[in-house]
Amino acid sequence: METADVAIVGGGVMGCALAYHLAARKVDVLLLERGQLGGGSTGKNAGGVRQQFSNEVNVQIQMLAVRLLRDFEQEIGVPADFHQIGYLFALTRPQDVEDFRQLVEMWHQVGLREARWLAPEQARELVPGLGIDDVLGCTFCPTDGIASPDAVTQGYASAARRLGARLREGVEVTGIEVAAGRVSGVKTSAGEFSTRVVFNCAGPWSKALGEMVGAVIPVEPHRRHIWVTGPVPEVTRETPMTVDFATTFYFHPEGDGVLFGIGERDDDPTFETAVDERALERAIEVAMRRLPALELAGIKTGWAGLYETTPDHQAILGPVEEVPGFWCACGFSGHGFMQAPAAGLLLAQQLVEGRADVDLSALRPGRFRAGALLAEKNVI
Ligand SMILES: Cc1cc2nc3c(=O)[nH]c(=O)nc-3n(C[C@H](O)[C@H](O)[C@H](O)COP(=O)(O)OP(=O)(O)OC[C@H]3O[C@@H](n4cnc5c(N)ncnc54)[C@H](O)[C@@H]3O)c2cc1C
Repeated sequence: METADVAIVGGGVMGCALAYHLAARKVDVLLLERGQLGGGSTGKNAGGVRQQFSNEVNVQIQMLAVRLLRDFEQEIGVPADFHQIGYLFALTRPQDVEDFRQLVEMWHQVGLREARWLAPEQARELVPGLGIDDVLGCTFCPTDGIASPDAVTQGYASAARRLGARLREGVEVTGIEVAAGRVSGVKTSAGEFSTRVVFNCAGPWSKALGEMVGAVIPVEPHRRHIWVTGPVPEVTRETPMTVDFATTFYFHPEGDGVLFGIGERDDDPTFETAVDERALERAIEVAMRRLPALELAGIKTGWAGLYETTPDHQAILGPVEEVPGFWCACGFSGHGFMQAPAAGLLLAQQLVEGRADVDLSALRPGRFRAGALLAEKNVI
């Protein structure tokens, strides 16, 4: 039977980043992807990379991810297409202003010194088309930005293969074997493989992977949309990613046009990814206030993909205590593209060296059973 030190289930950005970081530590890796690499949520995302989170551990992970993306070409051999155009959060509710004032202090303490507070007029200097009538204040971090999900995923995949990792597409994992109290192998559409460690990198489908070993991995799929327009003169390639925090409407430059999207509050879980035009209506309604110039730009394309949401909107990273050998790297709740480079490195360190540069214990799988949840508030 074919064997591997570690089997990774799922070939999105997370699985590929992890495969690279493990292979770089001389771990014998087998990655199994039932479709194509990057064909899940990774292929649908907006490419946003920010460090402005409400939980310290996420800020630390993101500061590391930004360093890895900045140095990506040097390490991986191809550019990540990372443009540090910054992220601007526009705040319209007094409570958010109060919260973000405290967050700026926390960010500075953690070392994110460049994040700063902006008055609405200063924000409009950065984003000329920004509607600021109801904006009370903004935060801006110039080292945030956008990168290419495809370049990062394929870059990690190629680098992992060069280091000897086996990445197989078109192979579905149908079961996980447990023997003598620990993981012993995987069953797949291409036969069985023997391994003592399985990583759940199955994105929105991670709950089903957990069920294969009797573990509850609380990840639910939620549909999210994106649209891309033709040129908008007010938005140049240097315009920051801009987020209307209260409504989660966001936009950033995309080629010569603008990419925009909007979240939902309290929508039901679904694996449906057909475009729902009602989401466009909601986005346009906010856009008329926040970026009125969007009205004149024709929509060129739009699509929907899945967020992989956990009860506290934080990733699930680390070993599942009750099933030795079963690890999670999933549940990113809509910020998995930006977290994957650092999560891959930190989990490889934790598995191989026994400790990671950032303490991931707050994101451990067991926190749900222990009731130790601390919700991430800055979810878009
Ligand atoms: C509209 C939209 C916008 C987004 N914008 C951003 C953004 O700006 N920034 C950001 O950081 N994140 C963003 N995200 C979230 C981001 O896309 C995800 O968090 C990230 O792609 C998760 O990567 P992943 O590798 O964990 O999962 P995926 O990319 O979904 O990969 C999981 C893979 O597992 C495979 N799989 C599942 N089950 C099995 C099985 N049994 N056997 C074999 N293979 C299996 C699937 O085929 C899939 O390819 C966005 C998401 C959406 C939908």
